[in-house]
Amino acid sequence: MAMKALWLSSAAALLLSAAAMAAPPVYPPFGLDRTAVDPAVKPGDDFFQYANGAYLARTAIASDRSSASRRLEMTDRMEAQLHTLMEDAARSPGADANRARVAAFYSAFMDEAQAERLGADPLRPEFDAIRAAPDRAALAGLMGQAEGGLYPALFGIGIDTDLKDPARYAVYVGQSGLGLPDRDYYLKPELAAKKDAYRAYAAKLLGLAGWAEPARAADALVAFEARLAEASWSKVQQRDLNAIYNPMAPAELRALTPGFDWSPLLGAAGVAGKGQLVVNEKSAFPRLAAIYAETPIDTLKAWMAFHVADGAAPYLSKAFVAAHFDFHGKVLTGQSEIRPRWKRAILAVGGGDCGADPGSCFGTIAWAVGDLYAARYFPPETKAKVTELVGNLKAAFRARIEALDWMGPATKAEALKKLDTYTIKVGYPDTPQRDYSGLVVRRDDLLGNVRRAAAYDWAFRVRRSDGPVDRGEWSMTPQTNDAYNGSLRDIVFPAGILQAPIFDAAADPAINYGAIGGVIGHEMTHGFDDQGRSIDANGALRDWWTPSDAAAFKARADRLGAQYAAFEPVPGFHINPGLTMGENIADLGGLSIALDAYHRSLNGKPAPVVGGLTGDQRVFLGWAQAWAGKMQPDAIKAMTVGDPHSFRKFRVNGVVRNLDAWYPAFKVAPGEALYLKPEDRVRIW
Ligand SMILES: [Zn+2]
Repeated sequence: MAMKALWLSSAAALLLSAAAMAAPPVYPPFGLDRTAVDPAVKPGDDFFQYANGAYLARTAIASDRSSASRRLEMTDRMEAQLHTLMEDAARSPGADANRARVAAFYSAFMDEAQAERLGADPLRPEFDAIRAAPDRAALAGLMGQAEGGLYPALFGIGIDTDLKDPARYAVYVGQSGLGLPDRDYYLKPELAAKKDAYRAYAAKLLGLAGWAEPARAADALVAFEARLAEASWSKVQQRDLNAIYNPMAPAELRALTPGFDWSPLLGAAGVAGKGQLVVNEKSAFPRLAAIYAETPIDTLKAWMAFHVADGAAPYLSKAFVAAHFDFHGKVLTGQSEIRPRWKRAILAVGGGDCGADPGSCFGTIAWAVGDLYAARYFPPETKAKVTELVGNLKAAFRARIEALDWMGPATKAEALKKLDTYTIKVGYPDTPQRDYSGLVVRRDDLLGNVRRAAAYDWAFRVRRSDGPVDRGEWSMTPQTNDAYNGSLRDIVFPAGILQAPIFDAAADPAINYGAIGGVIGHEMTHGFDDQGRSIDANGALRDWWTPSDAAAFKARADRLGAQYAAFEPVPGFHINPGLTMGENIADLGGLSIALDAYHRSLNGKPAPVVGGLTGDQRVFLGWAQAWAGKMQPDAIKAMTVGDPHSFRKFRVNGVVRNLDAWYPAFKVAPGEALYLKPEDRVRIW
């Protein structure tokens, strides 16, 4: 793209950039949605409602969704673009091999008549293998295909940067095997209805798939999973990076789990030759292995068959699709209607938010989609503007670290060193992430495409695992509406999240600082929070804090946690401060840094008043409007139990009340619901 500018005359280039500048913001005239505000609500009582009340009142949750939000409107915009892209490809695949793969995958999904004709037939390879397995060792071999196929596993295998030697990859082995979103679903009485619905769903699906005595099999497999749940670690326990780093030789792993035959599992996964494995939930392993050894083999087979059918159901006939939706959509997240087929086709090919749900890029050709999407829809000017904004955020964060009163000088020096090692990735990768040549995608074999794509991706990871870590890797595709702070000490903002209201090149800068600036700051602080503190400037697992820094941080984090624990998103479900601690701290730090960065960007001049709003007001409203949205109560419950992010209302209200600048900006006074006395406000970053 830079080459193109070279042969443009400077006059033509000026005209072009003037045309780009002239495009109005998505929310005219300056980037905030003034019609979203509810002036009847006092900002100090409920800032989220004040900024978004009118929008929330006029916005209904679509029957095929469990929520409605600005973020989903961004996804809608992107889905329409992906729809055009895939329809175009299907109409004329052309000479480009990836475009032809996308065309074939999309067309295969859209062929509903073929799915009806095939019924349960596509499940046959896995079902035959499960039925034929003579013993537990043979089933363990099938589990070894879980990462590159449809089988479930008692122990999951992952390949990622080695936390203790970040220039290399490590093979991680972790607890797995549960079909419900979290162990709480098996153990907590208030979620018992969900477990009952799960059992009914398992019976239904096994029946459709032709498994013998489906009701009895479902009872047994859910009881098996409930035992696994009891033995499994909680999500809060899993957040401790030191606790989940337990390197051992294969022989030690065998000694840890007597009776479990690892050879077939590791062999089938392609990692049998590794001299070291890193075990995650160590104390759970012997218990899981014992439960596996005690469970009748027929139950284990039914469990495997159910999970194969559950993973395959979205690609099968109507009866399977409906059963899958009735449980995963209706029961778990409160959706009332399934999404149109073309939208599901886009997800199946790889147009979804892989970041929001890591499992959703499984069995896709998401990188082929990503290359086509970025080339067609992501302007290079946006990449340049966001890169500049990120630089300002980094400078503001540096200054804030230098000024922290609770962190000692030695730790500060380490923190600044770490900040300098971060790479920022914007829009789309500069190097290709996957070479799909050799991957067969067929117009008449939908589930086969899923299998082959999953196996292809896993084989790629295994092959790469012997070499040095690739710091150019992206874990999210360009079409992902999300951002992350990764194990490569990188912060990544895919094209999909760089849309209004999160970012709009035509909007007033203060609004962009409040919205994308807050998100950028959020991701930056993750490198330095209760998890990030255990990863040093080289990316290695090493606690670089002194005990007194750790104590000072914990005291502040606990005070913030106590504030969030008082929030009750739905009756009976309070925010879990331990689970959400890292994300809440990141939100608070993110907006604090963004506000500073905005002030710095003014170069000593006063902020202009725009639309009658001060600069600070626009920053706060930018943040609040970026999070606008609502959710079905069941989905909020699921989120409150298992999601490390607080519900969106509290990502706004929980943060602004801790920032001093918010009080004068909106004349917030004692007695208002969100008011905190100055000494009760928590400042961490
Ligand atoms: Zn986060």
